[in-house]
Amino acid sequence: MSTVHPPRILVVEDHARLRSQIVAVLQAAGWRVEEASDGRLALQMALEEPPDVLLLDLGLPGLDGLDVCARLREQADRHVPVLMLTARDTLSDKGRGFAAGADDYLLKPFASEELLWRCQALSRRAELGRSPVLQRGPLRIDRRSGEAHCDGRAIAVSGHAWRLLVALAEAWPRTLTRSELLQQLWADEPPASDALRSHLYTLRRELGQDQHLVRTVHGVGLRLDVPLDGGG
Ligand code: CA
Repeated sequence: MSTVHPPRILVVEDHARLRSQIVAVLQAAGWRVEEASDGRLALQMALEEPPDVLLLDLGLPGLDGLDVCARLREQADRHVPVLMLTARDTLSDKGRGFAAGADDYLLKPFASEELLWRCQALSRRAELGRSPVLQRGPLRIDRRSGEAHCDGRAIAVSGHAWRLLVALAEAWPRTLTRSELLQQLWADEPPASDALRSHLYTLRRELGQDQHLVRTVHGVGLRLDVPLDGGG
């Protein structure tokens, strides 16, 4: 998957002048930049639309950088690369940053070149990590070749049943609601009333003895029933 669009970065820094300097440097280098000056708002923004890189100041009003990072790691459904920004340079501060889930660290004051290099490195690493293959417990789903296997056994699904499987694997560990599923499978053309049920039946039939992997969450929707350490 190549990045057609310029990478998106969320710059979280409460010092207005420093923030606008950082934003200017990143924009000049072609990044799409969003900004926040408050930890709580930053967390909300990063969860709603995960950026390619989160540049996160340590000392922030609302919620400090360590808390933002730790909560993001708990709540986000994918890994958001975090570059922690701080004036503190003791070993224990760095340790706390990494323990909270930061990917990299940059000390103030810094040269704008170094800021750019580190942001680019994080974004590139994250893109390399976005493999076309999703491993979910025993399920291996190759979005490029369109093939799926369960414990090595080929799962022959195509069309909407395939899209249903991919949507569930991409959203995992989250439950997809019925309306999200309808939107992802059919976009703006609503299907006949029982279409989702019939594709779910097809998918489960193909999974056979492993059909419990696609679990109905009553009154909500569907999710892949794979333990949290079963991803890849
Ligand atoms: Ca600050």
